Amino acid sequence: MDGTDTAVTCPVLILLGPPGAGKGTQARMLQEAHGFVQLSTGDLLRAAVAAGTEAGKAAQAVMEAGGLVSDDIVIAILKDRLAEADCARGVILDGFPRTAAQAEALDDLLAQSGQHINAAISLEVDDTAMVSRIAGRFTCGGCGEGYHDLHKPTAVIGICDTCGSSHMKRRADDNTAPVGHRLTEYHAQTAPLLAYYGNRGVLRKLDAMGEIGAIAAALSGLVRAATA
Ligand code: AMP
Repeated sequence: MDGTDTAVTCPVLILLGPPGAGKGTQARMLQEAHGFVQLSTGDLLRAAVAAGTEAGKAAQAVMEAGGLVSDDIVIAILKDRLAEADCARGVILDGFPRTAAQAEALDDLLAQSGQHINAAISLEVDDTAMVSRIAGRFTCGGCGEGYHDLHKPTAVIGICDTCGSSHMKRRADDNTAPVGHRLTEYHAQTAPLLAYYGNRGVLRKLDAMGEIGAIAAALSGLVRAATA
């Protein structure tokens, strides 16, 4: 892809926040409410690991330890995904960018096709609450719907509300040691991006410690304002 054939035609929204802030849950809800495409580099990398691609093999051990996969791998995966036709509906970046090099690569990629970032929305949370939040989460293996033991349980224990599957998955890197590493990486590598986007006038902050539905409603308002 040389930039002239990218399918991205905006809006482009970024969700920022530490692991456990609710980026995935909220991106999924925004996708349903607004029709944008959720692009989670974590999901793309897990798919690469499951498929046994070269990128997946290189990423697997780093991910299991809670580290950051190399910029080259992540940028290449995101670039390929952005070139797919559905991204013309607009995208919500969930978990990307996570480093200054990724933020700059995204700017370059968008500039090549005359696009820009509508908003980088920071989900503001209390760090100390993140470990327990992460430890309780699980996902339906059938449809990918996300749940939490305390904050968002299934209506019937063990059965997905959305698709009825009983195949529930918990991530290996949601254990305590990798979570600690992921939080450290967030503060060292990703938190500085708040200033990066603040300086460009696209940063929006949202209190994300409350109830999921209320956060989603507030987020929708921000997204509408940023894409009007
Ligand atoms: P997530 O699903 O966003 O929590 O990501 C899970 C893991 O995938 C992270 O802990 C990293 O190991 C890796 N990962 C996801 N996105 C990125 C990224 N943008 N840069 C580097 N590593 C990433």
